Amino acid sequence: MTVNDADTNNDIEADNGNGTKPIMRGRRRLLGLLRQRLWLQVLVGMALGIAFGLAIGPTGGLLSPSAASLVGNWVALPGKLFILAIQFVVIPLVVASVIRGIAGGSTGQLGVIGIWTIGFFLVFTVIAAIIGIGLAVLIKPGTVIDGANNIATATTPTPEAATLPGLAEFPDLLVSIFPRDPLATFVSGNMLQIVIAAVIIGVAMISISSEQRRPLLDLLASVQAVAMAVVAVVLRFAPLAVFGLLAQITAQVGVDALLSTAVYVATVILGLAILFALYLATAAWAGTPPMKFLRAAREPLLLAFSTSSSAAVMPVSLATSVGKLGAHAAVARFVIPLGTTINMGGTALYQGVAALFLAQVFGVEIGLTGMILVVVMATGAAIGSPGTPGIGIIILATILTSIGVPAAGIAIILGVDRILDMCRTVANVTGDLVASQFVSRYATDHIDTAESDSVKEATP
Ligand code: ASP
Repeated sequence: MTVNDADTNNDIEADNGNGTKPIMRGRRRLLGLLRQRLWLQVLVGMALGIAFGLAIGPTGGLLSPSAASLVGNWVALPGKLFILAIQFVVIPLVVASVIRGIAGGSTGQLGVIGIWTIGFFLVFTVIAAIIGIGLAVLIKPGTVIDGANNIATATTPTPEAATLPGLAEFPDLLVSIFPRDPLATFVSGNMLQIVIAAVIIGVAMISISSEQRRPLLDLLASVQAVAMAVVAVVLRFAPLAVFGLLAQITAQVGVDALLSTAVYVATVILGLAILFALYLATAAWAGTPPMKFLRAAREPLLLAFSTSSSAAVMPVSLATSVGKLGAHAAVARFVIPLGTTINMGGTALYQGVAALFLAQVFGVEIGLTGMILVVVMATGAAIGSPGTPGIGIIILATILTSIGVPAAGIAIILGVDRILDMCRTVANVTGDLVASQFVSRYATDHIDTAESDSVKEATP
């Protein structure tokens, strides 16, 4: 036993509030603690993954680039399977949660909760995009980098920009958001359509008698419980998954890529930190002090950081919102799945910085109109796109094209995008959790509190 071990042990004991235990048992207790505390295991997995990736990647140089990429691919395998395993239950969970969240109440409740939720998402997404643009205007990260030179040396292919729909195509676009065949919708994987279909079914269920509604609600409660049971098992592998995912990323991203875009990376991270603080302040306003929020939310936040996917973290966010943050179950069932699909404050902020950064790199003056266009497009795109890794940069390509900045400029920031994706996903998931707190707190008068809660029971 070293002094450090003893210190660590004391810290942990203080944290536990158990009083001092004999030092001899320190190591065993630490192992026990690690076994119990998922967030701590995930943190250790992250640290080891980063260290391993740095050692084998361009920074440490233990392996040649091709060998590092081979090893990176293999160590990331458990992480990729982990994400797939959680995604396996996401659609049944979203459907069951949203329908139960709505059908357990009344149309009046739904209206109030719906308006608060959508209002929260819109206001924060717009604020986030404005923070991003504001910081980029103040810091001017694009003036410290040579765009032409970077494009010439970039070897990575850029994501393709989709064409922006014109006014004439807009009605068709709106029609395409709505689900047609219910069964086809549920297997399509299109989250927005799935959420809309679940909302339609939930609303229809409110209008039928409770005897007719009960069997379906019971079935959905069982579906939800099964999905959460799968998540609880899969989560045991989170530390291993996180180790591999982070090892692969760090093995790929060289310090060079980070250094050449350091000011841009720092601007995005500063913006996300401001947004994060704003979310914490809002949670405090809704009655959850920042430290309490962070302690309760550490598992979904660490997983968001490691997986870069708010969709993959959704089951954990839902369980945390109800089981640890004390949000109302009916609200959380509606807000968290919906937020995972349409609320991406972190992504909007990142797009604001990135669009301005690249405009500065290429000397394109986008003006106030361009900035407003970026805010509108980032907000609109957040609604239609799924919370999956790398989606933000694909949408960015479209935003760039519409403000006259060469989409090929994305090559400059592609190398560091995964790191920023990890950070913005944390902000996105935080936004969903805080929205659930906020709506629970301020729409409670309209919520029936008697309903049972299988999510709470299944809290991992
Ligand atoms: N990865 C982000 C999320 O899942 C989306 C993005 O910004 O790419 O929330």
